[in-house]
Amino acid sequence: MLDEKSAKIALGLFSHYYAKTDLQVSKINEREFGFGNFEKKIDFRHQSFKDVSALKKYLVEKTPAFASYSSSLYQYPEGRPMEKKLWKGSNLIFDLDANDLNLECQKVHGRSWVCQNCLDSVKREAIKLIEEFLVPDFGFSKDEIKINFSGNRGYHINVYNDEIFTLNSQARKAITDYIAGTNMSIEKFFPTMGQRATRLTGPKDTDYGWGGKLANAMIGAIEKGVDALIALGIDPVIARRLYNNKARVISGIKSGNWDMVRIPKKAEFWANVMKRMAIAQRDSIDKNVTNDIYHLIRIPGTLHGDTGLAGKAIASVAQLESFDPMKEAIAFRQGVMKIHADNVPSFAMHGEDYGPYSNQDIELPVYAAMYLVLKRVAKPIE
Ligand SMILES: [Zn+2]
Repeated sequence: MLDEKSAKIALGLFSHYYAKTDLQVSKINEREFGFGNFEKKIDFRHQSFKDVSALKKYLVEKTPAFASYSSSLYQYPEGRPMEKKLWKGSNLIFDLDANDLNLECQKVHGRSWVCQNCLDSVKREAIKLIEEFLVPDFGFSKDEIKINFSGNRGYHINVYNDEIFTLNSQARKAITDYIAGTNMSIEKFFPTMGQRATRLTGPKDTDYGWGGKLANAMIGAIEKGVDALIALGIDPVIARRLYNNKARVISGIKSGNWDMVRIPKKAEFWANVMKRMAIAQRDSIDKNVTNDIYHLIRIPGTLHGDTGLAGKAIASVAQLESFDPMKEAIAFRQGVMKIHADNVPSFAMHGEDYGPYSNQDIELPVYAAMYLVLKRVAKPIE
């Protein structure tokens, strides 16, 4: 629970931010809106606005802790139940969250705190989703892909494409299953697997889709060296054997021959390596958000009630690479604030290092103080 005093200070800052910020929401009168408090991100929904200034007035005067809208467009966005809204279509949306990555650092700092490793890891996933799947496998152009920081520890990747727009939930699920490598059968890629005294044929690096992805990942690991092979779960002795025969093994894979060096129980061996790669790629494709056309997602530019950071739009993949949310998504740029900090790990904001703090009174810039208050690890004093 966020205490009453903290909530009041936070909402005052939120209201002030909305008063001086111009949001951009396309087709606003065809979208459903939902709002939440500090305990519940969507407390009520089925709202609509005729234009951006009506939304702005609402945010300044009613000031919710979380503001979300539909990526779907409707004839009657206020209609309820959902069927009465008359669905027109929706962009394809992926909600990537560091908490889905099962990172080691989270075992140390817990799931509500966000460290630099969390932010870097989820950024890599976002880039991977775009550059290894959406562009090469589905043929979307980078102009059709819009990226938003979520305001906390993730990114929303939106695909705007006419053919995608009217796909139903089932068709969207087929896309996420492909990307997550769900139900992928290893035998499909290795047709002679399990047959005795037969050469093991497998995917080539030029194959379309997962086959090519697997072959390329294997070639990449062999080129990188023994450690990269061990990281794929390969026994060190065999990793060295593969690496020492690098040129032969790579040219073998390129011609579909996965039998260039002696490997005991080769069928199981390659099956294990492939599974490991598929899972490494699967990570954080959040299937529910993508497949659920009725899902509401943070409005770009609005504030996140657990951080006070803004859901910033990021112009391109190149900009994503250098995007630093703890700097560029800062909303409350003025003033300082006194807080009592509980146990706070060290963190960086706006290029400054803060903490660690342990049960002490401190004065911080408002953005850093509010970040800790909204993360529930500090309370305002005086
Ligand atoms: Zn972390």
